[in-house]
Amino acid sequence: MMRVAAVHAFGGPEAIVLEDWPIPVPGPGEVLIRMRAAGMNQADILVREGRFVEKDRQQPLPIILGVEGAGDIAAVGPGCDTHSVGDRVAVIPMLTCGTCEPCRKGLLSECADLRIVGEHVDGTCAQYMVLPARNAIKVPDGPGYEALSVSIVAYMTAWHMLKTRGDLTAGETLLIVGGGSGMGSAALQLARAIGARVIVTTGSDEKCRQLIEAGADAAVNYTRVRDWDVEVRRLTGGRGVDIVHDTVGGATFQKSINALRQRGRMVCMGSHSGRSAEVLLVSIHRNEVDIRGCHTAHMSEIDEFLPLLADGSLRPILDATFSLEQVREAHLRLASPERLGKIAISIG
Ligand SMILES: [Zn+2]
Repeated sequence: MMRVAAVHAFGGPEAIVLEDWPIPVPGPGEVLIRMRAAGMNQADILVREGRFVEKDRQQPLPIILGVEGAGDIAAVGPGCDTHSVGDRVAVIPMLTCGTCEPCRKGLLSECADLRIVGEHVDGTCAQYMVLPARNAIKVPDGPGYEALSVSIVAYMTAWHMLKTRGDLTAGETLLIVGGGSGMGSAALQLARAIGARVIVTTGSDEKCRQLIEAGADAAVNYTRVRDWDVEVRRLTGGRGVDIVHDTVGGATFQKSINALRQRGRMVCMGSHSGRSAEVLLVSIHRNEVDIRGCHTAHMSEIDEFLPLLADGSLRPILDATFSLEQVREAHLRLASPERLGKIAISIG
């Protein structure tokens, strides 16, 4: 049997139960992973609360939580010759058909069959999990399991949003809305590696200080500076930023647009603060801004950042690590305004 953190009925952190499930058996082309750590994401809260956008495509409850994680190959299914027992791997959470044209090109986000681990199907908060072999990417020796478990989603998302969709280049000024989140802090590191100037918003003076220490050029405390869009324009000499990275959603959408320069571009993904936004259309027209939606990532983007993770150029900001037994506390911390960076769950 294996220990898992699952949800049988939607609710608060108390809805999460720790229980023993049978260890799954890998089928043809699949691998069994002994999970060593799971990384937490806002999606964990949405799934737990029953607010997941694609609830109709979600497996019936119970569901094991957890979108990402890292561990070792414990067994391989029939015909799987790509992995060996003992290989260190991280979970690629995008489950795809593997045969359509986008899949053959590695454009995972474009597969019509796309399902996400821990959202549509059982996730990573378990001692073992079975995945298609192509979803277990072999990882370098350097980073520990906790760091690996919080890296894949954050960096692949940052890479997809800033490089692929955003065309961010050295010397440009980027605004990261919610710079203290897991996605925001990963975007900050990547933007610095690219050579961009970075302004962040975050919810406390302490987090402003920490983010400047982590490489931000300026930080705005949005709880004190309500008109942070005006402040960001002031920080750019009235011009506005070249690009905005917004993973917050409805609550910040209009101000993110307001912070852009003429012909600036906004990359956006996620909407935990609200799934819809009322937008002043003239603010899009007048400044001829580009709004670019983003969804998950491509396989090549993951291959591109793994070496940067191995050599320490990218190092995830880890807020806290909890044990699997403390998963409810981990959920509380994930929702805490004091959190800065990612939260990992160590799986013994
Ligand atoms: Zn496909």
